[in-house]
Amino acid sequence: MPRKKTETISFKADTALLDAIEGIANRSEFIRGAILAALESACPLCSGTGTLTPDQKRHWNEFAEDHPIRTCGHCHEPRIYCARKP
Ligand SMILES: [Zn+2]
Ligand SMILES: [Zn+2]
Repeated sequence: MPRKKTETISFKADTALLDAIEGIANRSEFIRGAILAALESACPLCSGTGTLTPDQKRHWNEFAEDHPIRTCGHCHEPRIYCARKP
């Protein structure tokens, strides 16, 4: 089935969030922008869900064989290294 070009999504917001966005003239535009900005920083593999599907996990296991995760010596964040790169 072809996907609709636009779809309305709705979500619950508590009073604190409602208060925070109260003064914003175009909330839809603001929320669209915020979602796109958040996706920019989301994990490229799981898209921010935090877990991998069985197929993604299989791909990852294959990749991880020669790509160990170690702590970066500069910023101390986890980092993927390539075991084949000297
Ligand atoms: Zn992830
Ligand atoms: Zn680093």
